[in-house]
Amino acid sequence: MSQITVSMPDGSTRSVPAGTPVRDVAAGISPRLAREALAAYVDERMVDLSHPLETDAALTVVTPRTPGALELYRHSTAHLLAAAVTALFPEAQCGIGPPTEDGFFYDFIVHRPFVPEDLAAIEEKMLELAKRDLAYERKMLPKADAKAYFAGKGEPLKVQLIEEKGGDVVSCYTIEDAFIDFCTGPHVPSTGRLKAFKVLSSSNAYWKGDAANQPMQRIYGTAFFKRSALDEHLARLEEAKKRDHRKVGRELELFTFHHWAPGAPFWLPKGALLYGLLSDYMRGKLSGGGYQEVRTPLVFNKRLWETSGHWDHYRENMFLVESEQEPFGLKAMNCPGHMLIFASQVRSYRDLPLRFADQGVLHRQEASGVLSGLTRVRQFAQDDAHCFVAEDQIGAEVERLLALVDGVYTDFGLRYTTELSTRPEKYLGEEATWDRAESQLRQALEAAGRPFAVSEGEGNFYGPKIDFHVMDAIGRKWQCATIQLDYQLPQRFNLKYVGADNAEHRPVVIHRAIFGSFERFIALLIEHYAGAFPLWLAPVQAVVLPIADRHAEYGESVRQQLAAAGLRAELDARQEKIGYKIREAQLARVPYMLVAGDREAASGAVAVRARGRGDQGAQPVGAFIEAALDEIRRKAPAVND
Ligand SMILES: [Zn+2]
Ligand SMILES: [Zn+2]
Repeated sequence: MSQITVSMPDGSTRSVPAGTPVRDVAAGISPRLAREALAAYVDERMVDLSHPLETDAALTVVTPRTPGALELYRHSTAHLLAAAVTALFPEAQCGIGPPTEDGFFYDFIVHRPFVPEDLAAIEEKMLELAKRDLAYERKMLPKADAKAYFAGKGEPLKVQLIEEKGGDVVSCYTIEDAFIDFCTGPHVPSTGRLKAFKVLSSSNAYWKGDAANQPMQRIYGTAFFKRSALDEHLARLEEAKKRDHRKVGRELELFTFHHWAPGAPFWLPKGALLYGLLSDYMRGKLSGGGYQEVRTPLVFNKRLWETSGHWDHYRENMFLVESEQEPFGLKAMNCPGHMLIFASQVRSYRDLPLRFADQGVLHRQEASGVLSGLTRVRQFAQDDAHCFVAEDQIGAEVERLLALVDGVYTDFGLRYTTELSTRPEKYLGEEATWDRAESQLRQALEAAGRPFAVSEGEGNFYGPKIDFHVMDAIGRKWQCATIQLDYQLPQRFNLKYVGADNAEHRPVVIHRAIFGSFERFIALLIEHYAGAFPLWLAPVQAVVLPIADRHAEYGESVRQQLAAAGLRAELDARQEKIGYKIREAQLARVPYMLVAGDREAASGAVAVRARGRGDQGAQPVGAFIEAALDEIRRKAPAVND
C-alpha cells in the first residue's frame, strides 16, 4: 500500500498509508486530540473524521476551538432535532436545517403547528438519542437511488433538493437507524458529542422562504460546547425577551399594528412624540453642518427607477401603482429623487460639497411572513442624506461624517464598531478610482483615531463603504449607520458640475444615514434602555401624584409649572392609593414621580422619587425644574433599576 504525507499545522509531517481515516491520524497524535476531534480540515475543506486520506494533504483536526467548529456542531444538532421530530411525528416531511448565528433551525411540513409540549417532547427525544451515542455515517448513493429512496419515505422536498443540488452520486447521512438525510456534511462523529443544546421555539415558515410555496413549521434551537455557555446564552435570551421592543412598545403605548397595514407601524401619541424628538434631534445635529433639508415625491414614474437601475434590480421590493396607464413605483429610497434635484440646476465646484437631507417616508415590499415589529417593516423613514462631492473632497467629507456618527452615538450612550468594506470581485468603474477612494476612506478613518476592521471585497459594486455596528446594553450588535461611496448613480443621472477649470466634471455621491431607519433605531433604543429612556428622551418625563383629593389642585399647579418650563409632565389625580399610583408610574418607566401632600402643598415643594434611584426627598418645585432641565441639557444617561 502506498504511503502519503500529511502535514500538520505546527509544520510537522506524518507518513501514513493511503486510505487512513482522519480519525486515526488524530489518535496517532494524542489521546486528547482523539477525544476532542469533531472533524478535520483537509486542505481547507472540512470533512468527517471517517474521511479517508488518499493523497498528500495539509490536515487540521477540528476541535471546539477551531473556527467553524460551532457551525458544524450546531448543524449536527439540527440533524438530531430532525431525527427526534420524525420519530415523534412520522408524517413530518423534512426541509432544510442549517446553522445560524445563534444556533440552528430545521423546517418541517406537519399536519398542525407545533405547540410548546411538542417542543419539550422533541428535546427529550433528542437527549435520549444523544445518550445512545449514535454514529453519523456518510452513504454515497446514485442519484436515482437516492431520489427513489426519499420518495418512498414520503419526503418529496428531499427529492426536490436532490434533483436540484445532487450530482451523479449523492451524499446522504444516517444517524444509525434513527434518521437519514440528504446532506453534503460534514458532521460530528456521533450524537454523544452533542452535550448542550436546547429547543427554543417554533414559527411559521415557507419552503425556500417563499410565501407562494408550501407552509412549513420552523423549529429553532441552539447548541454550545459547554453547558455553562448554553446557560449564559439562555439567560441572555431571557433578558432580550424582557426587552423585546414589541412587548415594551405595547406596554409603554408607543406603537401598534393592524393587519390591514402589514409592516406599517401606527405611532401612538407617546411613540409619535419619541419619533418627533429623534427627528428634531437629528435636524439639530445637522444644522450648521451645511445640510439642506429637502422633500421629494412619494410616487415616481417607472422611468426614474429605470434610470437609477432599481427597475431592473429592485422591482420585486417595490410597491407598484398605475396612473393614466403609466406604471409608477412608491419611493423605496431617497437617492434617485436627490439626483433629480442636483440635476435641476447648473452646479459649480463652489457649490460642493452639496448635502441634501431627507426624512421622507419610504416603502419596501417585504414578504408579510418576515415582517417583525419595527425591525422588519414595509413603511419607514431614514435620517438620510446624500453628499455630492468632488473626488478630492471624499476624505474630508468622510472625516466630518465620522465625527458626526461618533457625536450621535455618544449622545445615546451607544458603543459601536467600524468596518471598512473594499472593492468586491465584481465592480463597476476604474480600478484606479477605487484605489483613490479607498485610500481616502482609510486616511479619514485613521485621522478619526478609532479602530476599524477591514472587510476585503465586501464593498458595494458601485463603491466602497463604511458600516457601523452599534452594541446594545446586552451585547447584541445592530447594523445602523452607513457611509457609502457611489460613482454609478451620478453617471446614470448624468450629473455634472463646472470645475475651476471651466470644464464639466462628475461628482461622487455619498449615501449616508446614522440612525439608519427611525423605526429600527427606536427598536434598538427601546431594547437598549429596556424602555427606561433617559430623561431627554422619555415621552413622559415626570408625573405629579397628589396623595389625596385635596392635593389635586396643587398637583395641577405643579404640572403647569413643569409644562411652562418645557417639561413633559402628567398629573395622576385618580382616587387611588399613592402606593398604587407610584407602582403604575414605575411600570410606565417614568423618570420622575413627584408626590404632593399637605407638607409639599404648604411649602411649594414636591417629594421626588427618581426611577432607579428611589426617594430623593422634598425639593422646591423650582429647584426640581432646574435640575431636570440640566439633566436634559447634558443628555444624562438613564439610571436603571
Ligand atoms: Zn447535515
Ligand atoms: Zn442613497
